[in-house]
Amino acid sequence: MNEADVLKVLADTGAMLTGHFELRSGLHSDRFFQCANALRYPDAAETLCRALAAKMQPLLVGGVDAVIAPALGGLVVGHELARAFGVMSIFAEKADGVLVMRRFKIVPGARYVVGEDVVTRGGRVQETVDIVRAGGGVVTAIGVLVDRSAGNAHFDVPMTSLIKMAPTVWEPGACPLCKAGSKAEHPGS
Ligand SMILES: [Zn+2]
Repeated sequence: MNEADVLKVLADTGAMLTGHFELRSGLHSDRFFQCANALRYPDAAETLCRALAAKMQPLLVGGVDAVIAPALGGLVVGHELARAFGVMSIFAEKADGVLVMRRFKIVPGARYVVGEDVVTRGGRVQETVDIVRAGGGVVTAIGVLVDRSAGNAHFDVPMTSLIKMAPTVWEPGACPLCKAGSKAEHPGS
C-alpha cells in the first residue's frame, strides 16, 4: 500500500473527515481523524495491518513471539498484526489509570511487538514497552497505523508507522476557514 492507498481507505471508512472542525481542544482544523472509524470494518483493519506488518518485516529478522497492545485503542491493531505475523495477541489494560497486565503474563526472554492505532505523544506505547521489560520480555519493534506525533514521540526501539499525519490546527482567531466565512462544526455531529 502506498500513502495514497492508505489515505483512500481512511477517507472511505470515515476515519478521515475533511471540512472545518472545532476539536475538543477548542482549536480549529480542516481535518478530523478518528482511527476507530477505519478499524470498525474488519476488512479495512486487516488490509491496513497487513501492510503495516509487511513494512515491519525487516525489523523482525530474529522472529517475534507475540504482539502486545495497550487497550482499548490498540486492541484491533494488535489482533490484526498478530494475525499477519502468525503469533498470539495479548493486551495491557487500564487499572486505576495505569496500564497493567490483568489477564496475561509476559514470558521472560520472549520477543514482543507493541501494536497501537495512533501515536500522538507516545505515553501509552512507552507504558507498554515498560510492562514487557518489567516482565523480562524483549521489545523488538513498535508498529502503529498512524503517527500523529510530528516527530515528537521517541522510543529506544524502532517504530514503524503505516502513515505519518500531523494535524494542522489553528487558534479560532487565526483560523483561515473562519476568515473565509465558514462555520466550524463539531466532528461526529
Ligand atoms: Zn475555524
